[in-house]
Amino acid sequence: MITVRVQWPEIKKDTVRFFWHTNKTVPLFRKNNFYFKYEGLNIEKMPIEVYWNAFLALMIPVFNICKEDVLFIFPHSIPSFMAETWINFHSASNITISPLSDKSSIELSTNHDNSTNVNSKVGVLFGGGKDSSCTFSILSEVHGIENILLISYVFGYDKYATNKIDKRRENMILNPLKKDLNVKIQKIVSDFQSTLKDQSAFYSPHTALFTGTVLPVIIKYNISLLTHSNEFVNYSTGIYNSNITRFNFRLSRPEYDNYLSARINSFFKTDVSIKNISYSLSDLASFKILAQRYPHILKHIMMCETIENPNIKWCKNCFKCAKYVFYSLYTGHEQHDIDIDYFFSKSSYIKDVLESTKNLQPTENGNYPFHPSIGYFETFYHMMASINPEDVKKRTSQKGYRNFMILKNRYGNKKFPVYDSFIEPAFKKLSLPFSKEIRKIITTHCPEIEKLPEYFLLEGIKVTIDYNLNCHVPKIFNVNHEKKLPR
Ligand SMILES: [Zn+2]
Repeated sequence: MITVRVQWPEIKKDTVRFFWHTNKTVPLFRKNNFYFKYEGLNIEKMPIEVYWNAFLALMIPVFNICKEDVLFIFPHSIPSFMAETWINFHSASNITISPLSDKSSIELSTNHDNSTNVNSKVGVLFGGGKDSSCTFSILSEVHGIENILLISYVFGYDKYATNKIDKRRENMILNPLKKDLNVKIQKIVSDFQSTLKDQSAFYSPHTALFTGTVLPVIIKYNISLLTHSNEFVNYSTGIYNSNITRFNFRLSRPEYDNYLSARINSFFKTDVSIKNISYSLSDLASFKILAQRYPHILKHIMMCETIENPNIKWCKNCFKCAKYVFYSLYTGHEQHDIDIDYFFSKSSYIKDVLESTKNLQPTENGNYPFHPSIGYFETFYHMMASINPEDVKKRTSQKGYRNFMILKNRYGNKKFPVYDSFIEPAFKKLSLPFSKEIRKIITTHCPEIEKLPEYFLLEGIKVTIDYNLNCHVPKIFNVNHEKKLPR
């Protein structure tokens, strides 16, 4: 058994630092501490449970990776309600928490002292890409931009990378947005990523990286709606041609978002709903809404993450830059960031894809099979089949056009209209506030899908999506806890 002795966190102005010791070396870690800095927010007077909540949200899934039983010993009793929330949320049957108390909520008055806003705000977890930019745009139109708070997390492998990422995001997107639209932004910087040796451990909390640690911001700004943005196809529910039910992206499904919202509200007396607006859209559909309705926001998006230079936005050679070129051609977005002729005739992306797919054979739908060099899936086929070659021809040299046509012949033989559509059954599952208004905006640009395809390609695997299936948060806390009460 691994014993984790948690120390009292150090809270100073806008930063909280966590520390712990283990009874033996756990190979997951590079160090036994991490911090979260809520830039400019004084968080000193928050109830301590706000921090234990963040610690549990992150450390339970990380320690859950170990195949051993893990006992957390805290310096102060943890409300069993909170322990139950995160153990169930992360299906962490190997975790035991001690000591526990039966505290079931915090005092309202404590909460009030911390709130700086009377009017509630909408918090958009904002990475600067097409999905969260689309969410931001739609919600600004519905709620008014003065009621929006963009929440920007900065993580990095080390201090150097964190500073670079931070600076690049400030320069390229946050400052221009602030200047252009006067939108309010809250930055949260953390070294949690550099605490861990491997990336799978870093991503193990999934969206709880944000939803589990954002509570000081929810309380300070009185956030009533908190959104993350993940496109629909991530939420497959099964494997095609099998009876296997498998909920992909389980931890950010609407059932889990609802569960977490209810648990947070019950304990912290908040009134927040966590929702994923992109649940009913593909990222191509989000891009299309931006291009057609919100070009003043689309011009700021930052998709490419391969470079560190805080003054360069596009590397012009990675699959995200490629997506930007294709999506712009598909939607008619006039971009001046990546030269189309350079992209099609000289970029390493095009060279790689042409070379690595040249010996493949067409599949049953006429397209060549997926190859990892492409970087993404059916939206690529759909765009290749939809982009008008004349639009490319007039902007490229002969070589660039020839390369485009080779790609089009290999991958542009079947359209997949679902990626350009509004997926009604998904939207219904969200039960969004202002759903009528949001629905109207989306359907102005994306037609409602009538019938879902038999299967989707997700990471090369044929998967299915069934919106009648419900994914339950397991109730494992009680059973587990009785079994493993510390001696
Ligand atoms: Zn790039």
